[in-house]
Amino acid sequence: MTMTALDTEDRTMLNTGLDPSNLKALIGALSATMSAHADELTALDAAIGDGDHGYNMKRGFEALVAEADALSAKPLGEALKAGGMKLVMTVGGASGPLFGTLLMTLGKEMPAVPDRAGFALAFRKAVDAVAARGKSEIGQKTMLDVLYPLADALDAGQPMTTIADVARSAADGTVALVASRGRASFLGERSAGHMDPGSRSMVLITETIVDFLEKNA
Ligand code: ADP
Ligand code: MG
Repeated sequence: MTMTALDTEDRTMLNTGLDPSNLKALIGALSATMSAHADELTALDAAIGDGDHGYNMKRGFEALVAEADALSAKPLGEALKAGGMKLVMTVGGASGPLFGTLLMTLGKEMPAVPDRAGFALAFRKAVDAVAARGKSEIGQKTMLDVLYPLADALDAGQPMTTIADVARSAADGTVALVASRGRASFLGERSAGHMDPGSRSMVLITETIVDFLEKNA
């Protein structure tokens, strides 16, 4: 297989930016983002759910920070699996097991040397695992409405710089949707007109990772 310039660039980004030695700093950055946006996420969840999403995610990432030394000592795949398990135990709600499944599956499927195509494939399998666990699919006003467009963008080889835009516009797209999974589905038609909180979380996480990779690659 010939490697294009983009492949080479992304290979470098993934290898250096997501290297376990940098993982501790990335976990810290993600936790800071979740803390800074906890009120915003919780307000989104208060509108169409039970108002705990921001605090659920904040608590989960704080638990990862507490274990950051141990996590960053592991190979990336193992760190993702252990981090995902920790999130399942600490985030709670519907989003904990779902987001935890994303990371655990990503860890399981991640190639030893994650090039762009290998990462894209692992990410899609991880998103499919979330859908299986949540018995959900795209279009139901859940985090999948951001995760699948991200999987598509990665498959299409979109440059890292546009990935956060993909996530943001996908989350914007959840505003108009009527929820048919998760707590927001209890509201029926009244769930339309609000952004899905889990989708907003996925945007915040994507933005933080892209920003981190740009600065550290
Ligand atoms: P809970 O709904 O139990 O209070 P959270 O508030 O932490 O949990 O998380 C809510 C988010 O979880 C939703 O905004 C949605 O994105 C996501 N979610 C809920 N149910 C599902 C599902 N079945 N499949 C995919 N995502 C889901
Ligand atoms: Mg909630």
